[in-house]
Amino acid sequence: MTLLNERCKPFAEYISHAKEMGFYPYFRPISQSWGPEVQVGSHRLIMVGSNDYLGLAHDPRVLESSERALKRWGAGPGGSRFLCGNFTLHEALEERLAQFVGKKKAIIHTTGFTTNVGAIACLLGRHDTILCDRENHASIFEGCRTSGARVLPFKHNDAADARRKLARVRDRQGCIFLVTEGVFSMSGDSVFLPDFLVLKREFPSLILYLDDAHGLGVMGPNGRGTAARFEATDQVDFIMGTFSKALASVGGFLASDDEAVMEYARHHSKPLIFSAALPASAVAAVQASLDVLEAEPERVERLRSITQRVRNAYREIGLPVQDSETPIIPIRVGSEMNAYHLARDLFEHGVFALPAVYPAVPRGQAVIRTAYMSTHEDRHVDFVLEVIARLARKYNLHSSVLEEWDVETEATCVSSAVF
Ligand code: PMP
Repeated sequence: MTLLNERCKPFAEYISHAKEMGFYPYFRPISQSWGPEVQVGSHRLIMVGSNDYLGLAHDPRVLESSERALKRWGAGPGGSRFLCGNFTLHEALEERLAQFVGKKKAIIHTTGFTTNVGAIACLLGRHDTILCDRENHASIFEGCRTSGARVLPFKHNDAADARRKLARVRDRQGCIFLVTEGVFSMSGDSVFLPDFLVLKREFPSLILYLDDAHGLGVMGPNGRGTAARFEATDQVDFIMGTFSKALASVGGFLASDDEAVMEYARHHSKPLIFSAALPASAVAAVQASLDVLEAEPERVERLRSITQRVRNAYREIGLPVQDSETPIIPIRVGSEMNAYHLARDLFEHGVFALPAVYPAVPRGQAVIRTAYMSTHEDRHVDFVLEVIARLARKYNLHSSVLEEWDVETEATCVSSAVF
């Protein structure tokens, strides 16, 4: 252990120093959640750091459905789906999801992370090539690495750069994947999907894999996701999604029209075969969330109007805000230390929002990631905006980070959104 201890100690000391100084913002123990509000110690805070975009995690219909399933199938699945943990409920949800995103088949996994790792790693190998947006999630990069395929990162959301990379490998044997996200988890950018569809027309064998973890329930008609928003569902070969955001649960899925490929993935994705199935309570929560989403599309509209209001308000405060339709609205801070100070001040003022620092974002380009929910009431939003306006003056956020950020750093190559 001595060598291992020596290796880990400087990091552990750095963390305990940050804790002593009161700057450590992560792993905050939430003792109770009401959705838009949470309790941490003696602080009651407005939550603007959650991915529960539609506020369904506390919906009574979702809770009831979860409770019923818990009683019928038990607390744990008893094994992997391959062995003894495959419930009729899992299969019903797969059918429902395929229908929801407009694909023939869907396969669910226990998390979104393992969906990406399991699927990409089992479908591709060392003769294949993966073009990967530099700001893709860590689970995508992990899947790429595990597959052994050649990985070519391209500039964030830049189809022209992807085309240049593609031209270099088009004559290579093997499959060529292009993996991007519908909505990027840290910046809140949405993908310029039409530009990538042009690429697919130019290179018909290109396989498009869209991680829509943050787009499902948020983008497109009735929250059907990014591919539906661009009316391009049939042109996207794989749609991946998670249940841990708008669908108020935990788990993930992969959907596609190619039944043979999906059958192969079902039998070769290692996390699906060798790891426990999703508990029934989590599966039922997703089913109920989809029911609510389909019955109450106004939730998506409410989220959009809150998002619009907040973006405008941030601009009025003087914060640099990019155009986007997503409820993820980062506050650009720049220095990591300032981001930690600001996060602590937000906490002290009653706002729960976390800093995203390197390697989740490039070094020196720290942000406070704020994300809004359709169950935020006007009073929540008013309160948060007032606090942010006050702190923006204190931290001089208007002028300090207005210069163009250079995204061409090493950090974006090893991209790794951590949340
Ligand atoms: N893909 C993206 C784009 C994500 O942001 C995340 C997690 N935030 C995941 C995949 C992993 O999903 P999960 O948290 O459900 O494992």
